[in-house]
Amino acid sequence: NVRVRFAPSPTGFLHLGGLRTALYNYLFAKSRNGKFLLRVEDTDQIRFVPGATEKLIDILNWAGIQIDEGPSIGGNRGPYIQSERIDLYHHYVNKLIKSGSAYHCFCSPKRLDLLRKEATRRGQTPGYDNKCRNLSRDEIERRKYNSEKFVIRFKVPDEMKPWNDEIFGLMKHNIKDEGDPVIVKADGFPTYHLANVVDDHLMEITHVLRGVEWQISTPKHIAMFEAFGWTPPHYAHLPLILNKDQTKMSKRQDDVHVEYYKERGYLSDTLIGLLTTGGGGFNTKNPEFMTINELTNKFDMKLIHKKSSRLQMDRLDEIQRFHFGQKLIDVKARETIVSEVRQIITAHFKNSSDLSNINSVELSDKYIGKILDWAKERITNINSLVSSEFLFLWSLPPTIPVDLSSQAAKKAIKDTLESISKLEDNKELDTVTLVKVLKTTSKLNNLKYPQYMKLLRSSLTGLKEGPSIAEVILILGIDQTKSRLEYALE
Ligand code: GLU
Repeated sequence: NVRVRFAPSPTGFLHLGGLRTALYNYLFAKSRNGKFLLRVEDTDQIRFVPGATEKLIDILNWAGIQIDEGPSIGGNRGPYIQSERIDLYHHYVNKLIKSGSAYHCFCSPKRLDLLRKEATRRGQTPGYDNKCRNLSRDEIERRKYNSEKFVIRFKVPDEMKPWNDEIFGLMKHNIKDEGDPVIVKADGFPTYHLANVVDDHLMEITHVLRGVEWQISTPKHIAMFEAFGWTPPHYAHLPLILNKDQTKMSKRQDDVHVEYYKERGYLSDTLIGLLTTGGGGFNTKNPEFMTINELTNKFDMKLIHKKSSRLQMDRLDEIQRFHFGQKLIDVKARETIVSEVRQIITAHFKNSSDLSNINSVELSDKYIGKILDWAKERITNINSLVSSEFLFLWSLPPTIPVDLSSQAAKKAIKDTLESISKLEDNKELDTVTLVKVLKTTSKLNNLKYPQYMKLLRSSLTGLKEGPSIAEVILILGIDQTKSRLEYALE
């Protein structure tokens, strides 16, 4: 039974690389009928940010990644927050000490610093010299009794077997030069290595999918699993995501945060789609045009690339328009979007008396739907609809083109009103029909067509430019068009 975990440190933000790791874990689990766990790795107290876990869960939910076990969701391998598991780590580290696989180290930070400097001077890998490996039990007790500060280190075995990375193949890292790693810090907190290994075991994790930056830790983890007498999970490391300039995507830039996209109205499907555009892993041509549910059938770990890659950021809006169009086809999703648009519009105009203006439209489902169908090829974000104010209200008298007398303008509007009144708001009404009617009216009034259009545009929208007049009439509908023309005549 496949069990995977997403194990971020709660820094308060989830960046695209983090979401990609979560996504791949989720897709892998779902493609194998397995479970996806969320585990919060917060033993690094310095990085603790209040509220970060809740935010993380919200973002994963938003993205469509369902958590089977985790903080606030529960499960029978919890707790799922590492700071609530400290006793467990102590229990297990004592086992390692007893079996001789871990030991107390009293080396001062000053000594370690000197070692580091010395190694750097000689051009060697800076590392610990394992000085405290063989302290006698008496000495340990005495120094503890004297309240000397200590850490616990894991004894790295002399011989490291090669190990298999599901993506990179057979790996062999030399970890001996670094010296024995710290697994419990001086403040009694476990380090990443210990907590990660103990939890992966106790939570019965079968596959670890994580960023390639953790690959150098894996031999240590495997060695720890073996020291405990446990079977390690399968490891698969995901390639880096790069910036345009081929540097590693930095967590400090705004636009690598998931929230940045969410706040700008991008759909979760769009962001998920974007994440599939670098790094591979899908046995289909255009994974970016699929929903997260569809992707589960197309995920294949063997197809993940080894090479670092860039996301196709320049396709973000294209991907968004696709998913937005898809949502409008889906009855339920469409209803949701319509009601979201209604909320956005009402909130935006709530402080102006404008919405009760005689020329404000009725925000019916049908009207909003019509706007969305018209806008779907033009906008990437429903929030931007508010800038097309004319769609919702219009209250100023029209400006009359300079080369027209107000008499002539009035007559033209009146005639338009008359011819428009003969039309019916139904499926047969299209731009071709409307243009025909408009052309006839402009001829009747001896007006040049562009001049006439200018007048109508100003009367109906208050704008100098915008969509074609026939389109405007189609969106507004006959009744609203009439009411705006009548208003222009007052
Ligand atoms: N806490 C680590 C992180 O922040 C987890 C790495 C792993 O998955 O083992 O990404």
